[in-house]
Amino acid sequence: MTFPSLTVADGMVVRLRYEMRLDDGESLSDDGPETVTYLHGEGELLPGLEEALYGMRAGEEKEILLSPEQAYGEYDPDAFELAPLDEFPDDVELEIGMALELHDEEEDEVYEAYIAEINEDGILLDFNHPLAGETLRVQVQVLDVRPATAEEMDHGHVHDNGHVH
Ligand code: ZN
Repeated sequence: MTFPSLTVADGMVVRLRYEMRLDDGESLSDDGPETVTYLHGEGELLPGLEEALYGMRAGEEKEILLSPEQAYGEYDPDAFELAPLDEFPDDVELEIGMALELHDEEEDEVYEAYIAEINEDGILLDFNHPLAGETLRVQVQVLDVRPATAEEMDHGHVHDNGHVH
């Protein structure tokens, strides 16, 4: 079922085809455009991307230019931390560039970090996203827009693809 007259707004389920490129045109997806179905207004997309999609209809396409703040943030040269080796489990093979999820028990938050260096003193963690500081060009096409169900609104996410809980 499609609702051709509906536009992207809070509380709408949007099926979106997109391809992200660096400012110089290099594509960030090896396999071409990707498709995502998400609940608009819940912060599931990059902030600048979600903002730029308001009011678009099914079938519409555009290119959206995202500044670093609208995408993965400015690069912060101070966002590094040295973590002792014994904080990491023995059975995990650590590699430069590997993404780690770190759980801060005091704040009860999960942070993503990347391994910048491995040496005798420990592991240098980079809390910058790999795309921090990058301006991105996102080619988008809205494929479908429909109102979220009451249950989806209640859960704050989409129940497509057999994902129900
Ligand atoms: Zn759910």
